[in-house]
Amino acid sequence: MIQVETVWLFVLPVLFGLGWLASRWDLRLENRMDERERMRQQRSTFKGLSLLLNEQPDQAIEALVKIAQLDPETIDLHFALGNLFRRRGETERAIRVHQHLANRDDLRSRDRDHAAYELGRDFLRAGLLDRAEASLNRVGDGKFAVPAKESLLEMYQIERDWKKAIIAATELQTLQGKSHHTEIAQFHCELGQEALRRKDLVEVEQSIDRALQTVPNHARALILQGDYFVAMGRPVQAIEVWSMVAKSHPAYMHLLADRWMSAHAVLDKSEAGLDRLNELLQTQGSGELLDIVHKHITQLQGPKAAELMLQVVMQHTPSLTALCKLAETRLVLAEADGSEDRIADLQATLGLLKQRTTTLARYTCGNCGFRARRFYWQCPGCNHWEAYSPRRSEGAESSGPSM
Ligand SMILES: [Zn+2]
Repeated sequence: MIQVETVWLFVLPVLFGLGWLASRWDLRLENRMDERERMRQQRSTFKGLSLLLNEQPDQAIEALVKIAQLDPETIDLHFALGNLFRRRGETERAIRVHQHLANRDDLRSRDRDHAAYELGRDFLRAGLLDRAEASLNRVGDGKFAVPAKESLLEMYQIERDWKKAIIAATELQTLQGKSHHTEIAQFHCELGQEALRRKDLVEVEQSIDRALQTVPNHARALILQGDYFVAMGRPVQAIEVWSMVAKSHPAYMHLLADRWMSAHAVLDKSEAGLDRLNELLQTQGSGELLDIVHKHITQLQGPKAAELMLQVVMQHTPSLTALCKLAETRLVLAEADGSEDRIADLQATLGLLKQRTTTLARYTCGNCGFRARRFYWQCPGCNHWEAYSPRRSEGAESSGPSM
């Protein structure tokens, strides 16, 4: 009996020792496997990154998707993948990645906001505006509050929902501590313009007042106020308001010059209206104002007076437009005289000049360089407001986009 107990005294510690050794072995094995897994992930990440840097996005995505599958906890990687998909125009895949993140309950509130913001951008890119709005509105007041509000503002402008755009821009002002007055005044003008088309003159008046409260003496609001008075059958007041534009924003006069002439015609004061526009040409020689003044002088006073006006303009502010109009007017005069040789000469000159002016005369966006034949309050290239110079340039074609 005593012998058996003595055996146990030896066996038990040996068994314990063996058990301890086995557990240590197991732990080391597990650590080694973890280490190997980590190394594998690291290698895949580096591979993915190097493929990205070598501009091989397809293979990069493949490598990164593999890591994301191996470790679903890699949140930043999921964000990177989602954005990569969106940038490549694969919005459906981007939505799937970001939706997966947005649906996770274990995320920190900051990551949840990030996911809602990215999902909103995906929906915006896919043109699913209702879903974009819902997702962007879920973003809380953190780091992503400003970009989410900026995206909402962008979206409301695409939808031409100016009322919501005004609210978003006002909130953005508070969030950023930065003025968005230019955009807000323009949104009120857009509302006013739409109301004018509907002949809802009460709303036109309200919109103009709000635009002028936001930016006093705002050029577009004053132009619209003149149109409002014309619609009310009050041409005298229209001319008064437009005279303010002539005084403080003369470069914008081409936008209303035709209506200015109509308002003067109603009052039987066409000559006075034309004189004022002609006066403005001293400083605003080239561009659309010249086209309009030329048209009205020819109608009211005949081609000889138009030729005289153009000669004066060519002395003050020579331009291709003026030269082209001069050739056009002289052709009309030559046709009246019936001088064949002169007609042929002028026709050739005019053909060349027209070709040059059509190619070169453009309004240019000061922000992105987008060039356009007509004037825009909002640039179709970069969506900035009041970025277009009201003066049409005749300079050499820029390398930027144009229409
Ligand atoms: Zn632009």
